[in-house]
Amino acid sequence: MMSEAVVGIDLGTTNSSIAVLHDGVPEVITDHDDGLVPSCVGVGPSGNVLVGHKARNQAMLFPDRTVQSIKRRMGTADRIRLGSAEHSPQGISAFILKDLVARAERCLDADVSRAVITVPAYFTDAQRKATREAGELAGLKVERIVNEPTAASLAYEVSSEEAMKVLVYDLGGGTFDVSVVALEGGVVEVLATAGDNRLGGDDFDALIVERLNKRLESMVQGDSLRSDRTVQARLRHAAEAAKIRLSGAPFASIEEDSLTGASRKPVNLSCEISRSDFENDIKDLLDKTLEQVEKALRDANTKAPDLDRVLLVGGSSRIPLVAKLLQKRLGVTPLGQIDPDRCVALGAAIQAGMEAGLDVHSVLVDVTPYTFGTGAIGHVDGMYTRHKYVPIIRRNSKLPITKSELFYTEFPNQRAVRFRIYQGEDPDVRNNTEIGSVYLRGLNEDHDAFEEGLIFTYSLNLDGILEFHARERLTGREVSGRVEDALAAHDATFEEFDDLGELEPGIAVPTGTAVKMLLERAKAAIPNAPKEDVPELKRLMKGLKRASRHKESGKIDELSGELAELLFFVE
Ligand code: AMP
Repeated sequence: MMSEAVVGIDLGTTNSSIAVLHDGVPEVITDHDDGLVPSCVGVGPSGNVLVGHKARNQAMLFPDRTVQSIKRRMGTADRIRLGSAEHSPQGISAFILKDLVARAERCLDADVSRAVITVPAYFTDAQRKATREAGELAGLKVERIVNEPTAASLAYEVSSEEAMKVLVYDLGGGTFDVSVVALEGGVVEVLATAGDNRLGGDDFDALIVERLNKRLESMVQGDSLRSDRTVQARLRHAAEAAKIRLSGAPFASIEEDSLTGASRKPVNLSCEISRSDFENDIKDLLDKTLEQVEKALRDANTKAPDLDRVLLVGGSSRIPLVAKLLQKRLGVTPLGQIDPDRCVALGAAIQAGMEAGLDVHSVLVDVTPYTFGTGAIGHVDGMYTRHKYVPIIRRNSKLPITKSELFYTEFPNQRAVRFRIYQGEDPDVRNNTEIGSVYLRGLNEDHDAFEEGLIFTYSLNLDGILEFHARERLTGREVSGRVEDALAAHDATFEEFDDLGELEPGIAVPTGTAVKMLLERAKAAIPNAPKEDVPELKRLMKGLKRASRHKESGKIDELSGELAELLFFVE
């Protein structure tokens, strides 16, 4: 007789997944893939039912034969036409559940007939009932319907003994939910929920697609490709991939060749999107999510300082700006180390295990216990300093991980930069541990290279080896190396530089251009500068502004050198 498994299912708007306890540890079931099954159902050309990627792939071309986001219609009396048949929303959801169960039975070689299924905390009775029915239609005994934020809290092993308040920020592909939950003595109570069921990663993709369409329009005058479904499907695909890359790097390039297909003159799209442009595009939408966070806190009668944890759930919560804004608004570092698009399924599997009376252990994640970063010029506590710490890989990030940041040299004529590598949390690098240092030389020989900046990348693998890579963007000039045992040893330092001769090792500047930073510094220095130096300071500032407006590189070099020297004395 085959063994029997109790599974946890995250039946999502965009993606669904199924998880099970393996030796007591919850795991998402992968079938030579990432375990995420698009919540999409369709009928193929021969009338066969398609679920998941196969259905999603045909969605753009055959919208009338494909159903997406059925979760939004759960609990309604809608009838959904699919091929020659009509279905209820729970009937469509049952196709997805059946596919998930088949995957589990195939991969586990076990019978699956009992499940815990998650739903949003705001789901009404009718919506919960429809979800239960979907499970039954798929042949499952639904042991329990669990709220998604509750499942996420279980995955994060939020101890049920202590009383805790947790905020769960769930930003997926098409929906945003925020919940404040209270946990005590094994009981999880949802205190308040808020959100926007029409906001998510798809909107961010659409903003990038808009940029790409504008770009195409400037290339193919008068011949808009906006109405070409195939082109738009490709752009959307490329936009999503670029968006995901921007979560780890300051730039993403998009290369789409022969966009219009064989019948027309081919158009090749090649462009680059910067993280800062993307962040500007999505800022308003993220602000909307923060308003909902405030609303949930108000409704839960909870103040930000009373929160014990903030959990990041949903694929779009991987966008670094999300954690940054939440941290700023709430003063709590959000946790995102458990895969945000798997953590609800993992929590559901924990609940399923508890229902079945099994031994339950916590989710296994390899995380870095340290933050790794570099030093740069910038503000620390409002003071201008050459010792600002710029974190690149943050503590509690899941391993392996690769992250990059953009920097500039301090001056346009600066030929070398020294990147120091630190481990620690303090905003001032001097209070962190230096574990390595590397020089990138021969910079800015092409004057435009200064404006393009340098990319500094860290990759940390499971063995604790930190690899770094610095590159001048315009020229591709680069240097790389590794720090062994970055996670273990404080004295495992690495240093790579030969004799620099006359070269002054420079420092990197994290944002804006270096001239701008120099001007800011000069402005800040004026009030406390000796009176006799002020006219000279002002003269240099004015000259530098003019030179930089007119892109006179020789003059910029000369004046920024003079200004830096004067600042050395007056600051
Ligand atoms: P979910 O509905 O939770 O599966 O979330 C899916 C959404 O997350 C989609 O819009 C994805 O494009 C988005 N997403 C997944 N990974 C990332 C990432 N690393 N950065 C930004 N968005 C992501």
